[in-house]
Amino acid sequence: MKRLVVVGNGMAACRLLEELTRLAPDLYQITVVGDEPFAGYNRVMLSPLLGGGTDEKTITTHPHQWYRDRNIRLITGTPVVAIHRRRRQVETAAGHLLDYDRLLLATGAAPRQLPVEGVTLDGVVSFRDLYDVRRLLSLPAARVVVVGGGFLGLEAADALVKQGHDVTLVHSRGHLLNQQLDESAGHRLQQDLEARGLKFVMQARTQSIEDNGQGAVAAVHLADGQRLPADYVVQAVGIVPRAELAASAGLTVNQGVRVDDTLQTFDPAIYAIGECVEHRERTFGLVAPLYEQASVCASHLAELGHRRYLYADSATRLKISGIDLVSCGDFLGDRGKGTEQGETLQLNLPGSYRRVQIRDNRVVGMVLYGDVSDAPFFEKLWKEKTDIGALREALLLGEVFCKRPGDSDEHSEEVAA
Ligand SMILES: Cc1cc2nc3c(=O)[nH]c(=O)nc-3n(C[C@H](O)[C@H](O)[C@H](O)COP(=O)(O)OP(=O)(O)OC[C@H]3O[C@@H](n4cnc5c(N)ncnc54)[C@H](O)[C@@H]3O)c2cc1C
Repeated sequence: MKRLVVVGNGMAACRLLEELTRLAPDLYQITVVGDEPFAGYNRVMLSPLLGGGTDEKTITTHPHQWYRDRNIRLITGTPVVAIHRRRRQVETAAGHLLDYDRLLLATGAAPRQLPVEGVTLDGVVSFRDLYDVRRLLSLPAARVVVVGGGFLGLEAADALVKQGHDVTLVHSRGHLLNQQLDESAGHRLQQDLEARGLKFVMQARTQSIEDNGQGAVAAVHLADGQRLPADYVVQAVGIVPRAELAASAGLTVNQGVRVDDTLQTFDPAIYAIGECVEHRERTFGLVAPLYEQASVCASHLAELGHRRYLYADSATRLKISGIDLVSCGDFLGDRGKGTEQGETLQLNLPGSYRRVQIRDNRVVGMVLYGDVSDAPFFEKLWKEKTDIGALREALLLGEVFCKRPGDSDEHSEEVAA
Protein backbone atom coordinates (compact mmCIF):
# COMPACT_ATOMS: atom_id res chain seq x y z
CA MET A 1 0.00 0.00 0.00
CA LYS A 2 1.17 3.52 -0.72
CA ARG A 3 1.46 6.02 2.10
CA LEU A 4 -0.37 9.32 2.09
CA VAL A 5 0.29 11.92 4.77
CA VAL A 6 -2.14 14.84 5.11
CA VAL A 7 -0.96 17.96 6.93
CA GLY A 8 -3.89 19.84 8.45
CA ASN A 9 -7.23 18.42 9.53
CA GLY A 10 -9.49 21.27 8.49
CA MET A 11 -12.41 21.56 6.12
CA ALA A 12 -10.51 20.98 2.87
CA ALA A 13 -8.63 17.95 4.25
CA CYS A 14 -11.80 16.35 5.61
CA ARG A 15 -13.59 16.80 2.30
CA LEU A 16 -10.66 15.28 0.42
CA LEU A 17 -10.53 12.30 2.77
CA GLU A 18 -14.22 11.67 2.21
CA GLU A 19 -13.79 11.64 -1.55
CA LEU A 20 -10.54 9.71 -1.63
CA THR A 21 -11.75 6.93 0.68
CA ARG A 22 -14.84 6.60 -1.48
CA LEU A 23 -12.92 6.53 -4.78
CA ALA A 24 -9.97 4.39 -3.71
CA PRO A 25 -10.56 2.88 -0.26
CA ASP A 26 -7.57 0.52 -0.43
CA LEU A 27 -4.96 2.54 -2.27
CA TYR A 28 -3.31 4.33 0.67
CA GLN A 29 -2.35 3.93 4.24
CA ILE A 30 -3.42 7.42 5.37
CA THR A 31 -2.06 9.48 8.26
CA VAL A 32 -3.53 12.89 9.07
CA VAL A 33 -1.68 15.36 11.28
CA GLY A 34 -3.60 18.31 12.68
CA ASP A 35 -2.16 20.87 15.06
CA GLU A 36 -5.56 21.59 16.61
CA PRO A 37 -6.40 19.03 19.31
CA PHE A 38 -9.84 18.32 17.81
CA ALA A 39 -11.33 15.85 15.35
CA GLY A 40 -12.80 17.36 12.17
CA TYR A 41 -15.26 20.20 12.70
CA ASN A 42 -17.15 22.70 10.56
CA ARG A 43 -15.33 26.01 10.90
CA VAL A 44 -18.16 27.85 9.15
CA MET A 45 -20.39 26.98 12.10
CA LEU A 46 -18.17 28.80 14.60
CA SER A 47 -20.38 31.89 14.11
CA PRO A 48 -23.61 30.18 15.23
CA LEU A 49 -21.60 28.46 17.99
CA LEU A 50 -20.47 31.84 19.28
CA GLY A 51 -24.03 33.15 19.05
CA GLY A 52 -25.35 30.26 21.16
CA GLY A 53 -27.26 28.68 18.26
CA THR A 54 -25.45 25.32 18.27
CA ASP A 55 -22.94 23.29 20.27
CA GLU A 56 -19.52 21.73 19.72
CA LYS A 57 -20.87 18.22 19.28
CA THR A 58 -23.20 19.32 16.50
CA ILE A 59 -20.47 21.06 14.55
CA THR A 60 -18.12 18.06 14.77
CA THR A 61 -18.39 16.68 11.26
CA HIS A 62 -15.73 13.97 11.52
CA PRO A 63 -15.49 12.45 15.00
CA HIS A 64 -12.57 10.15 15.86
CA GLN A 65 -14.66 7.09 14.99
CA TRP A 66 -15.00 8.34 11.40
CA TYR A 67 -11.20 8.06 10.95
CA ARG A 68 -11.08 4.68 12.72
CA ASP A 69 -13.80 3.32 10.45
CA ARG A 70 -11.62 4.10 7.44
CA ASN A 71 -8.32 2.96 8.95
CA ILE A 72 -7.01 6.52 8.93
CA ARG A 73 -4.45 7.33 11.59
CA LEU A 74 -5.25 10.74 13.10
CA ILE A 75 -2.57 12.56 15.05
CA THR A 76 -3.90 15.72 16.70
CA GLY A 77 -2.50 18.51 18.83
CA THR A 78 0.89 18.70 17.14
CA PRO A 79 2.03 20.53 14.00
CA VAL A 80 4.19 19.18 11.22
CA VAL A 81 7.37 21.22 11.56
CA ALA A 82 9.45 19.95 8.64
CA ILE A 83 9.13 18.22 5.30
CA HIS A 84 12.23 16.25 4.26
CA ARG A 85 11.55 16.00 0.56
CA ARG A 86 14.63 13.98 -0.38
CA ARG A 87 13.71 11.12 1.92
CA ARG A 88 9.95 11.73 1.61
CA GLN A 89 9.34 12.15 5.28
CA VAL A 90 7.58 14.66 7.50
CA GLU A 91 8.38 15.47 11.09
CA THR A 92 6.00 16.64 13.80
CA ALA A 93 6.75 18.81 16.80
CA ALA A 94 5.97 15.78 18.99
CA GLY A 95 8.72 13.81 17.22
CA HIS A 96 6.79 11.58 14.80
CA LEU A 97 8.66 10.80 11.58
CA LEU A 98 6.16 9.84 8.89
CA ASP A 99 7.15 8.42 5.51
CA TYR A 100 5.07 9.31 2.50
CA ASP A 101 4.67 8.45 -1.16
CA ARG A 102 2.21 11.31 -1.55
CA LEU A 103 1.91 14.34 0.72
CA LEU A 104 -1.06 16.67 0.90
CA LEU A 105 -0.77 20.13 2.43
CA ALA A 106 -4.08 21.53 3.71
CA THR A 107 -2.80 23.95 6.31
CA GLY A 108 -5.45 26.66 5.81
CA ALA A 109 -4.89 30.28 6.72
CA ALA A 110 -4.16 32.36 9.80
CA PRO A 111 -6.02 35.50 10.88
CA ARG A 112 -4.28 38.65 9.69
CA GLN A 113 -2.89 40.59 12.64
CA LEU A 114 -3.64 44.29 12.96
CA PRO A 115 -0.43 46.14 12.16
CA VAL A 116 -0.69 48.37 15.24
CA GLU A 117 0.96 48.86 18.61
CA GLY A 118 -0.78 46.90 21.37
CA VAL A 119 -1.87 43.96 19.20
CA THR A 120 -0.12 41.48 21.51
CA LEU A 121 -1.92 42.70 24.65
CA ASP A 122 -4.03 40.31 26.64
CA GLY A 123 -7.60 40.66 25.42
CA VAL A 124 -6.83 40.93 21.71
CA VAL A 125 -8.56 37.90 20.19
CA SER A 126 -9.02 36.43 16.70
CA PHE A 127 -12.00 34.46 15.43
CA ARG A 128 -10.66 31.45 13.63
CA ASP A 129 -10.90 28.26 15.65
CA LEU A 130 -12.64 26.48 18.49
CA TYR A 131 -10.15 27.86 21.00
CA ASP A 132 -11.04 31.42 20.01
CA VAL A 133 -14.74 30.67 20.38
CA ARG A 134 -14.27 29.00 23.77
CA ARG A 135 -12.31 32.04 24.89
CA LEU A 136 -14.94 34.49 23.60
CA LEU A 137 -17.73 32.45 25.21
CA SER A 138 -15.97 32.60 28.56
CA LEU A 139 -15.80 36.41 28.71
CA PRO A 140 -17.73 38.18 31.43
CA ALA A 141 -20.04 40.94 30.12
CA ALA A 142 -17.56 43.33 28.57
CA ARG A 143 -16.95 46.18 26.19
CA VAL A 144 -15.77 44.61 22.95
CA VAL A 145 -14.43 46.39 19.90
CA VAL A 146 -14.54 44.30 16.71
CA VAL A 147 -12.21 45.55 13.99
CA GLY A 148 -13.36 44.72 10.45
CA GLY A 149 -16.77 45.02 8.78
CA GLY A 150 -16.49 41.97 6.51
CA PHE A 151 -18.44 38.73 7.00
CA LEU A 152 -16.28 37.48 9.84
CA GLY A 153 -16.36 40.73 11.82
CA LEU A 154 -20.12 41.11 11.42
CA GLU A 155 -20.86 37.54 12.42
CA ALA A 156 -18.60 37.86 15.46
CA ALA A 157 -20.10 41.21 16.46
CA ASP A 158 -23.69 40.00 16.12
CA ALA A 159 -22.92 36.85 18.13
CA LEU A 160 -21.21 38.88 20.87
CA VAL A 161 -24.23 41.20 21.14
CA LYS A 162 -26.36 38.08 21.59
CA GLN A 163 -24.00 37.03 24.40
CA GLY A 164 -24.78 40.29 26.20
CA HIS A 165 -21.64 42.28 25.40
CA ASP A 166 -21.46 45.96 24.62
CA VAL A 167 -20.08 45.78 21.07
CA THR A 168 -18.69 48.46 18.76
CA LEU A 169 -17.60 47.53 15.27
CA VAL A 170 -14.92 49.62 13.60
CA HIS A 171 -14.74 49.54 9.81
CA SER A 172 -12.31 51.34 7.55
CA ARG A 173 -14.77 51.91 4.69
CA GLY A 174 -17.98 53.92 4.28
CA HIS A 175 -20.31 50.91 4.26
CA LEU A 176 -20.33 47.36 5.60
CA LEU A 177 -19.36 44.34 3.51
CA ASN A 178 -17.97 46.66 0.89
CA GLN A 179 -16.62 43.71 -1.07
CA GLN A 180 -20.08 42.11 -1.33
CA LEU A 181 -22.61 44.95 -1.09
CA ASP A 182 -23.26 48.27 -2.74
CA GLU A 183 -23.75 51.35 -0.58
CA SER A 184 -27.56 51.05 -0.31
CA ALA A 185 -27.51 47.46 0.89
CA GLY A 186 -24.55 48.18 3.17
CA HIS A 187 -26.44 51.01 4.87
CA ARG A 188 -29.55 48.89 5.28
CA LEU A 189 -27.46 46.21 6.91
CA GLN A 190 -25.93 48.75 9.29
CA GLN A 191 -29.38 50.06 10.29
CA ASP A 192 -30.70 46.55 10.92
CA LEU A 193 -27.71 45.69 13.07
CA GLU A 194 -27.93 48.98 14.98
CA ALA A 195 -31.52 48.07 15.81
CA ARG A 196 -30.10 44.95 17.49
CA GLY A 197 -27.81 47.01 19.69
CA LEU A 198 -24.59 46.94 17.69
CA LYS A 199 -22.68 50.23 17.44
CA PHE A 200 -20.55 51.27 14.47
CA VAL A 201 -17.69 53.59 13.78
CA MET A 202 -17.27 53.82 10.02
CA GLN A 203 -14.41 55.13 7.90
CA ALA A 204 -12.17 54.62 10.86
CA ARG A 205 -8.59 53.41 10.94
CA THR A 206 -7.33 51.65 14.06
CA GLN A 207 -4.13 53.32 15.16
CA SER A 208 -3.20 51.56 18.39
CA ILE A 209 -4.53 49.51 21.27
CA GLU A 210 -3.99 51.04 24.71
CA ASP A 211 -2.47 49.05 27.56
CA ASN A 212 -4.35 49.22 30.88
CA GLY A 213 -0.99 49.22 32.69
CA GLN A 214 -1.20 45.46 33.38
CA GLY A 215 -0.58 44.16 29.89
CA ALA A 216 -4.27 44.03 28.95
CA VAL A 217 -6.52 46.06 26.65
CA ALA A 218 -7.86 49.43 27.90
CA ALA A 219 -9.05 51.09 24.67
CA VAL A 220 -8.76 51.30 20.92
CA HIS A 221 -7.38 54.52 19.46
CA LEU A 222 -8.48 55.59 15.99
CA ALA A 223 -6.53 57.69 13.52
CA ASP A 224 -8.98 60.60 13.86
CA GLY A 225 -8.23 60.84 17.61
CA GLN A 226 -11.26 58.94 18.95
CA ARG A 227 -10.67 56.67 21.94
CA LEU A 228 -13.00 53.68 22.27
CA PRO A 229 -12.79 52.17 25.79
CA ALA A 230 -12.60 48.37 25.50
CA ASP A 231 -11.89 45.23 27.52
CA TYR A 232 -11.47 43.05 24.46
CA VAL A 233 -10.62 43.55 20.82
CA VAL A 234 -11.63 41.03 18.14
CA GLN A 235 -9.56 41.38 15.00
CA ALA A 236 -11.33 40.33 11.81
CA VAL A 237 -9.25 41.98 9.13
CA GLY A 238 -8.61 39.12 6.75
CA ILE A 239 -6.52 36.00 6.51
CA VAL A 240 -3.03 34.99 5.41
CA PRO A 241 -2.35 31.57 3.80
CA ARG A 242 -0.28 29.30 6.05
CA ALA A 243 2.50 28.53 3.62
CA GLU A 244 5.61 28.71 5.85
CA LEU A 245 6.02 24.94 6.06
CA ALA A 246 5.89 24.60 2.27
CA ALA A 247 8.31 27.51 1.83
CA SER A 248 10.80 26.02 4.27
CA ALA A 249 10.72 22.78 2.25
CA GLY A 250 11.65 24.69 -0.90
CA LEU A 251 8.23 24.54 -2.58
CA THR A 252 7.22 27.51 -4.68
CA VAL A 253 5.32 29.98 -2.54
CA ASN A 254 4.06 33.38 -3.52
CA GLN A 255 1.01 34.57 -1.57
CA GLY A 256 0.21 30.91 -0.96
CA VAL A 257 1.60 27.52 -1.96
CA ARG A 258 1.61 27.56 -5.75
CA VAL A 259 -0.36 24.74 -7.37
CA ASP A 260 -1.26 23.85 -10.94
CA ASP A 261 -4.71 22.82 -12.20
CA THR A 262 -4.26 19.33 -10.73
CA LEU A 263 -3.44 20.87 -7.31
CA GLN A 264 0.12 19.62 -7.57
CA THR A 265 2.91 21.74 -6.17
CA PHE A 266 6.40 22.23 -7.60
CA ASP A 267 7.20 18.74 -6.20
CA PRO A 268 5.10 16.09 -8.03
CA ALA A 269 4.77 14.01 -4.84
CA ILE A 270 3.20 16.94 -2.98
CA TYR A 271 -0.30 18.34 -3.48
CA ALA A 272 -1.93 21.29 -1.72
CA ILE A 273 -5.54 22.41 -1.36
CA GLY A 274 -7.60 24.98 0.55
CA GLU A 275 -6.80 28.39 1.92
CA CYS A 276 -3.05 27.69 1.99
CA VAL A 277 -2.83 27.59 -1.81
CA GLU A 278 -2.43 30.03 -4.62
CA HIS A 279 -3.90 28.88 -7.91
CA ARG A 280 -3.47 31.04 -11.00
CA GLU A 281 -2.59 34.04 -8.80
CA ARG A 282 -5.73 33.65 -6.71
CA THR A 283 -6.02 32.79 -3.01
CA PHE A 284 -9.20 31.57 -1.31
CA GLY A 285 -11.39 32.36 1.69
CA LEU A 286 -14.65 30.48 1.17
CA VAL A 287 -15.44 26.77 1.29
CA ALA A 288 -17.08 26.34 -2.13
CA PRO A 289 -13.89 26.61 -4.22
CA LEU A 290 -11.84 24.54 -1.85
CA TYR A 291 -14.39 21.72 -1.82
CA GLU A 292 -14.00 21.65 -5.59
CA GLN A 293 -10.22 21.58 -5.17
CA ALA A 294 -10.60 18.66 -2.73
CA SER A 295 -12.69 16.78 -5.25
CA VAL A 296 -10.27 17.31 -8.14
CA CYS A 297 -7.24 16.51 -5.99
CA ALA A 298 -8.88 13.34 -4.64
CA SER A 299 -9.40 12.10 -8.19
CA HIS A 300 -5.70 12.56 -8.93
CA LEU A 301 -4.58 10.95 -5.68
CA ALA A 302 -6.95 8.06 -6.49
CA GLU A 303 -5.06 7.73 -9.77
CA LEU A 304 -8.21 8.46 -11.73
CA GLY A 305 -6.88 11.87 -12.55
CA HIS A 306 -8.24 13.50 -15.61
CA ARG A 307 -9.90 16.50 -13.96
CA ARG A 308 -8.61 20.04 -13.74
CA TYR A 309 -9.46 22.63 -11.12
CA LEU A 310 -10.74 25.92 -12.53
CA TYR A 311 -12.07 28.65 -10.30
CA ALA A 312 -15.80 29.34 -10.51
CA ASP A 313 -17.21 32.38 -8.75
CA SER A 314 -20.04 31.60 -6.32
CA ALA A 315 -22.61 33.63 -4.44
CA THR A 316 -22.03 34.64 -0.82
CA ARG A 317 -24.50 34.78 2.05
CA LEU A 318 -24.35 36.18 5.56
CA LYS A 319 -25.07 33.77 8.45
CA ILE A 320 -26.78 36.21 10.79
CA SER A 321 -30.23 34.97 11.68
CA GLY A 322 -33.00 37.33 10.63
CA ILE A 323 -30.77 39.17 8.16
CA ASP A 324 -30.85 37.75 4.67
CA LEU A 325 -28.55 38.88 1.94
CA VAL A 326 -27.04 37.30 -1.12
CA SER A 327 -24.42 38.80 -3.35
CA CYS A 328 -22.55 37.56 -6.40
CA GLY A 329 -20.43 38.56 -9.33
CA ASP A 330 -19.76 42.05 -10.56
CA PHE A 331 -22.55 43.67 -8.55
CA LEU A 332 -21.20 47.20 -9.07
CA GLY A 333 -20.55 46.68 -12.76
CA ASP A 334 -17.07 48.14 -12.43
CA ARG A 335 -14.93 45.07 -13.11
CA GLY A 336 -13.19 44.93 -16.44
CA LYS A 337 -12.97 48.72 -16.62
CA GLY A 338 -12.63 50.12 -20.08
CA THR A 339 -15.26 47.80 -21.49
CA GLU A 340 -18.99 48.42 -21.70
CA GLN A 341 -20.09 49.21 -18.11
CA GLY A 342 -23.65 48.04 -18.55
CA GLU A 343 -26.78 48.93 -16.71
CA THR A 344 -28.04 48.79 -13.13
CA LEU A 345 -31.58 47.69 -12.27
CA GLN A 346 -32.65 48.54 -8.72
CA LEU A 347 -35.71 47.87 -6.58
CA ASN A 348 -35.89 49.70 -3.28
CA LEU A 349 -38.81 48.68 -1.08
CA PRO A 350 -39.23 48.64 2.68
CA GLY A 351 -37.74 45.30 3.77
CA SER A 352 -36.41 44.41 0.34
CA TYR A 353 -33.63 45.74 -1.81
CA ARG A 354 -32.52 44.33 -5.16
CA ARG A 355 -29.74 45.41 -7.43
CA VAL A 356 -29.08 43.50 -10.62
CA GLN A 357 -26.20 44.46 -12.86
CA ILE A 358 -26.63 43.78 -16.56
CA ARG A 359 -24.08 43.83 -19.35
CA ASP A 360 -24.73 42.74 -22.95
CA ASN A 361 -28.15 41.42 -21.87
CA ARG A 362 -26.58 39.13 -19.26
CA VAL A 363 -26.75 39.31 -15.46
CA VAL A 364 -23.15 39.91 -14.35
CA GLY A 365 -23.82 40.40 -10.64
CA MET A 366 -26.48 41.09 -8.04
CA VAL A 367 -27.23 42.06 -4.47
CA LEU A 368 -30.43 40.94 -2.75
CA TYR A 369 -31.17 42.23 0.73
CA GLY A 370 -34.21 41.35 2.83
CA ASP A 371 -36.30 39.17 0.53
CA VAL A 372 -33.84 36.69 -0.97
CA SER A 373 -36.42 34.16 -2.16
CA ASP A 374 -35.44 34.83 -5.76
CA ALA A 375 -31.72 34.34 -5.18
CA PRO A 376 -31.60 30.89 -6.90
CA PHE A 377 -33.35 32.39 -9.92
CA PHE A 378 -30.87 35.26 -10.30
CA GLU A 379 -27.93 33.00 -9.53
CA LYS A 380 -28.96 30.65 -12.31
CA LEU A 381 -29.29 33.51 -14.79
CA TRP A 382 -25.86 34.76 -13.71
CA LYS A 383 -24.10 31.38 -13.82
CA GLU A 384 -25.64 30.32 -17.10
CA LYS A 385 -25.19 33.73 -18.70
CA THR A 386 -28.81 33.58 -19.86
CA ASP A 387 -29.94 36.23 -22.34
CA ILE A 388 -32.44 38.24 -20.27
CA GLY A 389 -33.63 40.41 -23.16
CA ALA A 390 -37.17 39.02 -23.03
CA LEU A 391 -37.30 39.19 -19.22
CA ARG A 392 -35.90 42.67 -18.74
CA GLU A 393 -39.17 44.47 -17.89
CA ALA A 394 -40.15 42.06 -15.14
CA LEU A 395 -36.68 40.91 -14.10
CA LEU A 396 -36.46 42.71 -10.76
CA LEU A 397 -39.84 41.36 -9.69
CA GLY A 398 -38.42 37.87 -9.72
CA GLU A 399 -39.04 34.47 -11.17
CA VAL A 400 -42.83 34.36 -10.92
CA PHE A 401 -43.20 37.54 -12.95
CA CYS A 402 -40.67 36.38 -15.53
CA LYS A 403 -42.51 33.22 -16.39
CA ARG A 404 -43.82 33.24 -19.92
CA PRO A 405 -46.91 31.38 -21.02
CA GLY A 406 -45.79 27.88 -21.86
CA ASP A 407 -42.91 27.82 -19.36
CA SER A 408 -43.18 24.48 -17.61
CA ASP A 409 -43.25 24.05 -13.82
CA GLU A 410 -40.42 21.63 -14.27
CA HIS A 411 -38.28 24.57 -15.34
CA SER A 412 -39.20 26.62 -12.30
CA GLU A 413 -38.46 23.73 -9.95
CA GLU A 414 -35.11 23.37 -11.57
CA VAL A 415 -34.44 27.07 -11.06
CA ALA A 416 -35.50 26.93 -7.43
CA ALA A 417 -33.40 23.84 -6.65
C1 LIG B 1 -15.92 32.02 11.94
C2 LIG B 1 -15.82 31.63 10.50
C3 LIG B 1 -16.95 31.60 9.71
C4 LIG B 1 -16.86 31.26 8.36
N1 LIG B 1 -17.98 31.27 7.61
C5 LIG B 1 -17.91 30.91 6.31
C6 LIG B 1 -19.08 30.87 5.50
O1 LIG B 1 -20.18 31.19 5.94
N2 LIG B 1 -18.95 30.47 4.20
C7 LIG B 1 -17.75 30.08 3.68
O2 LIG B 1 -17.69 29.71 2.50
N3 LIG B 1 -16.61 30.13 4.43
C8 LIG B 1 -16.66 30.53 5.72
N4 LIG B 1 -15.52 30.56 6.47
C9 LIG B 1 -14.24 30.19 5.84
C10 LIG B 1 -14.02 28.67 5.88
O3 LIG B 1 -14.15 28.21 7.18
C11 LIG B 1 -12.62 28.37 5.34
O4 LIG B 1 -12.61 28.74 3.98
C12 LIG B 1 -12.23 26.89 5.47
O5 LIG B 1 -12.32 26.44 6.80
C13 LIG B 1 -10.79 26.71 4.99
O6 LIG B 1 -10.50 25.34 5.01
P1 LIG B 1 -8.98 24.84 5.01
O7 LIG B 1 -9.04 23.36 5.19
O8 LIG B 1 -8.23 25.41 3.90
O9 LIG B 1 -8.39 25.50 6.34
P2 LIG B 1 -8.78 25.19 7.83
O10 LIG B 1 -10.20 24.77 7.94
O11 LIG B 1 -8.31 26.35 8.60
O12 LIG B 1 -7.89 23.94 8.19
C14 LIG B 1 -6.49 23.99 8.23
C15 LIG B 1 -6.03 23.17 9.40
O13 LIG B 1 -4.63 22.91 9.28
C16 LIG B 1 -4.02 23.08 10.53
N5 LIG B 1 -2.56 23.30 10.34
C17 LIG B 1 -1.96 24.42 9.87
N6 LIG B 1 -0.61 24.23 9.81
C18 LIG B 1 -0.39 22.97 10.26
C19 LIG B 1 0.80 22.19 10.44
N7 LIG B 1 2.02 22.66 10.12
N8 LIG B 1 0.68 20.94 10.94
C20 LIG B 1 -0.57 20.43 11.23
N9 LIG B 1 -1.71 21.12 11.09
C21 LIG B 1 -1.62 22.37 10.59
C22 LIG B 1 -4.77 24.26 11.11
O14 LIG B 1 -4.60 24.35 12.51
C23 LIG B 1 -6.21 23.91 10.73
O15 LIG B 1 -6.78 23.05 11.69
C24 LIG B 1 -15.59 30.91 7.82
C25 LIG B 1 -14.44 30.94 8.61
C26 LIG B 1 -14.54 31.29 9.94
C27 LIG B 1 -13.30 31.32 10.79
